Amino acid sequence: MAESTKTDTVVVGLGAMGAQALWRLARSGVDVIGIERFTPGHDRGSSHGESRIIRTAYMEGAEYVPFVRAAWRAWEELEQAAAERLLVRTGALMLGSPDDPAVTGSIAAAERHDLAHQVLSHERLTRRFPQHVTRPGEVGVFEEEAGAVLPEAAIRAAVRLAERSGARVRTGTTVSRIVPDPDRPSVLLSDGGRILARRVIVTAGSWLPRLLPEVADLGGGLRVERRVLGWFRTTQDPSPHVHGPVFARDEDDCTWYGFPSLDGGRTVKIGVHAETPGNRAEGAQWGEPVDPDVGPRAPDAADARRLGALAAGLRGVAELPERMAACMYTMTSDEHFLIGHRRELPGLVLAGGFSGHGYKFASAVGIALADLARDGRTDMPIAMFDPHRWD
Ligand SMILES: Cc1cc2nc3c(=O)[nH]c(=O)nc-3n(C[C@H](O)[C@H](O)[C@H](O)COP(=O)(O)OP(=O)(O)OC[C@H]3O[C@@H](n4cnc5c(N)ncnc54)[C@H](O)[C@@H]3O)c2cc1C
Repeated sequence: MAESTKTDTVVVGLGAMGAQALWRLARSGVDVIGIERFTPGHDRGSSHGESRIIRTAYMEGAEYVPFVRAAWRAWEELEQAAAERLLVRTGALMLGSPDDPAVTGSIAAAERHDLAHQVLSHERLTRRFPQHVTRPGEVGVFEEEAGAVLPEAAIRAAVRLAERSGARVRTGTTVSRIVPDPDRPSVLLSDGGRILARRVIVTAGSWLPRLLPEVADLGGGLRVERRVLGWFRTTQDPSPHVHGPVFARDEDDCTWYGFPSLDGGRTVKIGVHAETPGNRAEGAQWGEPVDPDVGPRAPDAADARRLGALAAGLRGVAELPERMAACMYTMTSDEHFLIGHRRELPGLVLAGGFSGHGYKFASAVGIALADLARDGRTDMPIAMFDPHRWD
C-alpha cells in the first residue's frame, strides 16, 4: 500500500515562487508540505546564478509597478526575518537609443507612477558611468529604486523559515502527477507516496507544462528556452564595476543586462534577456528550446564569443567570460505571467510562465499564492496574470 499523507496545502516545486508561498503559508499557521525534486537553491531550473535584477520603473509595462512595490516590501520582510542580506541596492540604468523599449518603457512607467528617475545623455553617461561604453545618441534612464536579489540565498532562507514555522519539506522527491479536485486534490509522488490536500499550489517552473498538460497550450503555448550567463574578470584596479547600477541595454539584435561586481570587484556578470523580434527567425541564438528533464545544453565557445561581443560595451573587463552557466526561461506568448486558477484544474493554484523576468516578484507572488490557497482571493495586483486571459 502506498503511503498516504493528509495536509491543508501542498506546494509542488520549491524554487523562486514555491519557496516564498511555503513560507507565507507556514507563518500564517497553515499545515503545509513542500515538495522539491532537487534541493532548495539548486542550479537545474530558473533561479540560479547568484543575482537577479529588481527595478521599479518597469519597462515591460507600467501596470507592473504596484506589484514590484509589493515585492520590495515582501523582500524586506524576508530579509528581516532571515537576518541575512538578500537584497543589494544599486540603482538601475536602462540604456539604448531614445526610442528603444528599455528607454521608452522605463520612462513611461516612471512618469505614470511618479518615480524618481533621470534621463542622461551620452555625454552625461560617459562622465557618471564610465564603466559603460555608450555611443553618441544613446541615452540612459537611471532610477534609484533598483538593485539585485540574491536568488539561491532567498530560496534557502524562505524554506528554512518555513520549516521553522512548521512546514514539512521533502527534498529529492519528484511529483509524478497532480489530480485536481475541488475539495480534495491529490499529489502523487514518484516514490509511490500520495498526499491528499485541500489545495495544491503548483510552482514547477519549466516543468509546469509537462506536469500539467492542460496549461501547456495556454495562449498559444508555453516555451522553455535556454539562456546563458557569463562572469567576466575585471581588468582594472580599482575596477569601475565595484559600485554602480544594475543595467539593461537594447542593441540592434538583442537586449542584454548585467550587474556591478558582487564579489568585491573580481568579476561582473552579464546575460542576454531577449533577441530583438525579427532576429529570432535567423537562428534563435538565445532562445534554443529545452527539454527540462534533460536540461539546457552546457555553455560552449560560441556562447563565450557572443557574450564577449556584448561585454565589449563594458570598460575594464576581459574579452571572454571566465565561467558561464545555462538556465531556463519559461515563456508565455505575451510574456506576462500565469498566476491563479484554471477552471478545469479545480483545487489547484498555479504560478508559472515567468518569461525571464519573474524573480523580482517572487516575494509578492508567494503572498498571492498563499492568499489564493488559504482564502480563495488576494489583494495583490495580479489580475493581468489571469490564466484565463486568452479564453
Ligand atoms: C539566466 C536567467 C536570468 C534571469 N534574470 C532575471 C532577473 O534579472 N530578474 C528577474 O526578475 N527575473 C529574472 N529571471 C527570471 C526568474 O529567475 C524566473 O522567472 C524565476 O526564477 C522562475 O521561478 P519559478 O519558481 O517559476 O521556477 P524555479 O525557480 O525553477 O522553480 C521550479 C521548481 O520546481 C521544482 N520542480 C519542478 N518539477 C517538479 C516535480 N515534478 N516535483 C518536484 N519538484 C519539481 C524544480 O526543481 C524547481 O526547484 C532570470 C532567469 C534566468 C534563467
